[in-house]
Amino acid sequence: MFPAITGLGLLALIAAGCETSHHHDHHSQGASSSSAGSAATASASTIMDGVFTPEPPPTPQQNTGPGVGYDKTPVIRGQKWRVHDKDRPVPPVVTPGARFSHGAPPPSDATVLFGGRDLSKWELADGKPAPWTVMNGFFQVAPKTKDIQTRQEFGDCQLHLEFATPSVPDGTSQGRGNSGVFFHSDFEVQVLDSYNNRTYADGQVGALYGQWPPLANPVKGPGEWNSYDIVFEAPRFDAAGKLSRPGYLTVILNGVLMHNRKELNGPTHHQATDPYKPYNSRGKISLQDHGNITRFRNIWVRGIGEYN
Ligand code: MG
Repeated sequence: MFPAITGLGLLALIAAGCETSHHHDHHSQGASSSSAGSAATASASTIMDGVFTPEPPPTPQQNTGPGVGYDKTPVIRGQKWRVHDKDRPVPPVVTPGARFSHGAPPPSDATVLFGGRDLSKWELADGKPAPWTVMNGFFQVAPKTKDIQTRQEFGDCQLHLEFATPSVPDGTSQGRGNSGVFFHSDFEVQVLDSYNNRTYADGQVGALYGQWPPLANPVKGPGEWNSYDIVFEAPRFDAAGKLSRPGYLTVILNGVLMHNRKELNGPTHHQATDPYKPYNSRGKISLQDHGNITRFRNIWVRGIGEYN
């Protein structure tokens, strides 16, 4: 389904691209200083105008520096941290393998939600066709068109999905490559460019947003494909609408465990610790329009069976 340029090949291409642009910069400077005086003047004024910026480091950093986040939000139920606590430690950076489930073909009992061609399985909240942009084997957020959701509802499920944050990083913290995978409208696994981008721990890529930071940060660089393999167990409610079993999420990003059947303590909302609200434990899967042009491909889902 996908061409051979995945994982290692893609990394090699990107590495080659960095190499080329780096070399080109030096070449340009060399050329301007050794040729026409006007070119040298232009180069100098460019630097004086502050347009020149050094290239970012080629390897992931620990996202150190001052904390980013909040200090007056409510404390999360059962935890010592506030929602989006600026002092909560961020997880360690892990360099993932070149590929894990990238390009994984769907098993026979899966529902393919995006196989590379169209968004017919997706809609807006009002049921209108999903207006995001389909390109060659992937689709991307069309900013300000709002979230899209599956037409079909699912209960407990196993989801495979791949995403890439914009290849030219723009914005900081929550403003960079932000999207999200929502289960049943209320439970978000964060999608974010957390590559050299500090944000609050419970809001970085792989976070159960506003509740649990992931155990690691194995995100790939801007423009590279990441693979998510997620198991979602919906909360259960009794006939009176009382919570009888919380929801759980198990998340693997690029072959690295982010959450091991981690308990959700309610909906994952911004700056809030809202309680569960009862529903029938079935719902749609949605993708967030947070204004960033994040890309998606190869999305499929399986319902979870029962042990006998
Ligand atoms: Mg998000």
